Amino acid sequence: MDKIPTKQVDSPPKKQVVELYEKSERIYVRAYKGIYRNVRNISAWGLLLMYYLTPWLSWDDRQAVLFDLPARQFHVFFLTFWPQDFALLSGLLILFAFVLFFVTVFAGRAWCGYACFQTVWTYFFMWAEEFAEGSRNERKKLDSKPMSLTKFRKKFVKHSLWGTISIATAITFVGYFTPIQELLGKFSTMEFGPWESWWLLFFTVATYLNSGYMREQVCKHMCPYARFQSVMFDPDTLIVTYDEARGEPRGKGSRKQAIEDDLGDCVDCGVCVAVCPVGIDIRDGLQYECISCAACIDGCNEVMERLGKPKGLVRYATENVLEGQTYHLLRPRFIGYGVAVLAITTYIGMQLFARVPIEVDLIRDRQTLFRDLGEGIIENTYHLKVSNKSQAGITISVDLNDVENYEYLGKQRLQIAPNATIEEMLRIRIHTDDLESPKTDITFDVKSVDDKSIQMEQESRFLAPADQVL
Ligand code: SF4
Ligand code: SF4
Repeated sequence: MDKIPTKQVDSPPKKQVVELYEKSERIYVRAYKGIYRNVRNISAWGLLLMYYLTPWLSWDDRQAVLFDLPARQFHVFFLTFWPQDFALLSGLLILFAFVLFFVTVFAGRAWCGYACFQTVWTYFFMWAEEFAEGSRNERKKLDSKPMSLTKFRKKFVKHSLWGTISIATAITFVGYFTPIQELLGKFSTMEFGPWESWWLLFFTVATYLNSGYMREQVCKHMCPYARFQSVMFDPDTLIVTYDEARGEPRGKGSRKQAIEDDLGDCVDCGVCVAVCPVGIDIRDGLQYECISCAACIDGCNEVMERLGKPKGLVRYATENVLEGQTYHLLRPRFIGYGVAVLAITTYIGMQLFARVPIEVDLIRDRQTLFRDLGEGIIENTYHLKVSNKSQAGITISVDLNDVENYEYLGKQRLQIAPNATIEEMLRIRIHTDDLESPKTDITFDVKSVDDKSIQMEQESRFLAPADQVL
C-alpha cells in the first residue's frame, strides 16, 4: 500500500531579539609569546619612551620640541616653524596620511596593530592589569568573586597604576605646548592657566577611559580609519588569515583519532580567540574589527609547536596566495601611493633646504601717501617687520634697489635675536628729478651681513605728486 503523503506544515519562525545597543562583553586577554609580540613590544616601548622623554630634551637653552602657541612658533630641534610655514606643516600632515595609505596597501592595518596610540596605550594598561591582578584566569576569577580585602588591594594597585600612567600621559602632552619643567613647577602652587587645567584633566580622563575600559570599542566604533581602510585593501594586501584548507575540518581529540576522522590541523583549542585583544575569531575570516596585531598568529604558532605541527596555520598572507595565485608586490595602487610619498617628501625636503631663516614684511604707510618737504624732495614712509626664524642672532642690512639717488632715514643695519621679530619705521627721500613716474616701483633688499645666502627682496612703491614728476 502506498504511503499517504503527509502535508508538511512549516512551523512559524522563532522570534529573534536583536539588541540595538548590546552590552559589550569584557575581554580577558591571555598572555602569549611569539615573534610578533616581540616586534610590537619593541615598537610600543620605543614609542612610549619617545613620547614621554621628548619634552625633556633641550636644544640651545630651550625645550627641543615645543609647540609654543602663544608665540606662534613650533620648535622641532634645530628648526622653528612660524605661521608662515603653514604650507610646510600641512605638507607633513599630508605626507603622514600617504605613508599610512602606502603601508596599508602593503601590510593591511599594520599601523593599528603596532604603532597606533590606542593600541600602544591599551597594551601598556594591559601590562599594568596583569601586573596587579595576574593572568587571564586569575583576573576572571577575581572579577567573579565578591569584594574582599585581597580583591580591593589588587584593584587598588591596578587603578593606581592606570591613574599614574594617565596623569603622566596628560602632563607630557601639555608639556609639548608649555615648557614641561615650568609646568611641573606649577604643581607646587596649582596655579595652572585655564587651557592647561582643561587639557590636563581631559587627557587624564581620556587616557584612563580609552585604555582602561573602552579599549577595542574605540577601534570598533570611534576610529574612522577602521571604516575606510578596507577600500585600500586589494587581493595582494598582507592580512592576518587562517588557512582554512589546512585547518578544516577542525576538531579536538588524539592524534590517532584525528587521522581516523581525517581532521585538519586546527585542534579548536580557542587560543587564537583568547589572545585576541578585540575578541574575534580569525577562523571566521577577515573582519573589520581585526587590527592586524598578529596575536592570534603567535598564539596559534605556540599551539602548533606544542603539537609538533608546522607553524603558520594562522599567518600573514594575501588573498591571492591563499587561493594559490601569484603575489604581486608592484601593483598600480602600491606604486601610486609610493610615488605620492616620494613626491611629497621631495617637496618638503626642498622647501626645508631652500628655507630662508628670515621673514620680511614691508608695508607702505597708508596714513600719508607722501610728504612734500619742498625743493623737490618727497618722503615716503614704510613699516618694516623682520623675523629671525633661526636659532642664532642675525644682523641684517636694508638697501633700496631700482633708484640711484635716495636718502634712507632709519637704521640700515638691524640686529635680531634668535626667534625674535623687530619692527622699524623707514623713511625714504627722493628728489623728483630722480623719479620718472609719480608711482615708482622700488625693491627693498634685506640681507644678512654675515651670510650672503640669507637674502630677501620686498617690492613696494614710491609715490610722489603727479604735477612735480614729469
Ligand atoms: S584576529 Fe588576530 S590579528 Fe586580528 S585583532 Fe584578533 S589577534 Fe589581532
Ligand atoms: S589557535 Fe590555532 S589550533 Fe587553536 S583554535 Fe586557533 S587556529 Fe585552531
